[in-house]
Amino acid sequence: MRIVMKFGGTSVAGAEKIRHAAGLALKAVAEGHQVVVVVSAMDGVTEDLLDLADAAGSGNRAALYTVLGKVRSAHEAAARALGAMDEVDPLLGRLETLVSGILAVGELTARSRDAVVAFGERLSTAMMGVAMGCRAMDGHGAGIVTDDHFGEADPLMEISMHQVRQNLEPIISGGRPVVVSGFIAANQHGVTTTLGRGGSDYTATILGAAIRADEIWIWSDVDGLMSADPRAVPEARLLTAINFAEAVEMGKFGAKSMHPRALEPAAAHRINVRMRSTFNPDNPGTLISDATAAGDAAHAVRSVPMLKKMAMVTVGGAGMIGRPGTAAAVFTALAEARVNAHMICQSVSEAGISVVVSMGQLDKARAALERALVKVTSGPHANVVSSLKVQENLAIIAAVGQGMKGVPGVAARVFVAVAEAGVNINAIAQGSSELSIAFAVDEAAGSKAVAAVHRAFGLGG
Ligand code: ADP
Ligand code: ASP
Ligand code: MG
Repeated sequence: MRIVMKFGGTSVAGAEKIRHAAGLALKAVAEGHQVVVVVSAMDGVTEDLLDLADAAGSGNRAALYTVLGKVRSAHEAAARALGAMDEVDPLLGRLETLVSGILAVGELTARSRDAVVAFGERLSTAMMGVAMGCRAMDGHGAGIVTDDHFGEADPLMEISMHQVRQNLEPIISGGRPVVVSGFIAANQHGVTTTLGRGGSDYTATILGAAIRADEIWIWSDVDGLMSADPRAVPEARLLTAINFAEAVEMGKFGAKSMHPRALEPAAAHRINVRMRSTFNPDNPGTLISDATAAGDAAHAVRSVPMLKKMAMVTVGGAGMIGRPGTAAAVFTALAEARVNAHMICQSVSEAGISVVVSMGQLDKARAALERALVKVTSGPHANVVSSLKVQENLAIIAAVGQGMKGVPGVAARVFVAVAEAGVNINAIAQGSSELSIAFAVDEAAGSKAVAAVHRAFGLGG
């Protein structure tokens, strides 16, 4: 079999764990499989590097050296134990030079932030390469090319697939494994980009699709994809088999902190995905495939994922009533600003349209909508929108299941459960595919609402 294996941050957090993960990959190689390994940064390192970039950009020298020291000592300790100092030390040196440069210039851009965070995956990849005794390269080296949207770059799929095939095929058909860093790529000029948070999962499926892998294995610290985040709902149950449509929908709503598009390349090429636990490798985990039947009316809701750190922007005004085109203008403005709307709702009175975006994109969303719609005094949208309201610290919760299609009363059961838990709902949306019902609540009440819906549909163990 040809397998792409991705190890998440918790699976490579320290020398012992890197050795263990390398052992799992090498076992598959010994069994005769062709293996491509994708690695994330060590647990917590991406957060540290984001802090490091911010400290450099804001001229906070003390914070910069504190965080740099932390990143350095974590990697040096692991590298020393693995005998990977020759690989790791130069990378740490380059990182220090880079952040010193940002500090000197006093300006952090999306581009330079990507240059900094990319070091997390570069470092872990180098160590995994040593632990496995094989070649290691970054995502760009493997052939992934993206557009210029630093921080959340979109792969140029045709060319990436072609290049990845060209670069990796000779190695793996020779029976040799190779390690590729997740999350990182480059634009067409070779400037480093990143695919967005959770992007290593996306790297794994892009590589899998390119080399026509038989399976993609996502190794993590949980047994697999569960009916809810086990941190929010302790009785959440492992989903042993699930079909692509449901899994893709779960991914969009934050299940397993996956990149929202991570499962798309696998679904498009019908490559089975297995989610497994590095720390419990005997458990077969979750199989995501086309073969699994969709849920039925009795299992209308199969999982309740949650996206945190969300904000809702509502544009309103009596002028919107009965006037076509405002919704289109909202979406155009957001699309042009490259803001991803996770949820969209319109009030029945037509006097308001709300979009839920990540907190990280809130400033961009607000600015785009203000420019396009608010206080506009000429053109088709003049004097239509009079107010723009923002609510921060929300969570989007979704009840996901293909079995809800055509089944009446599912939404009612969801909302009764949330109401009985005493949680106020800020906004509601249902996708036209009837795969999910989504709603927004205050983040502080998020887990409580997830647990209530989970219980109402009998999903607990
Ligand atoms: P990795 O570093 O392996 O990518 P992440 O931290 O990104 O791991 O994702 C794994 C975590 O996602 C789990 O520890 C779990 O708490 C959380 N999680 C959220 N939703 C789910 C879900 N539906 N099923 C499994 N885990 C989930
Ligand atoms: N290290 C990156 C992140 O934390 C990518 C990943 O882990 O998938 O988002
Ligand atoms: Mg992850």
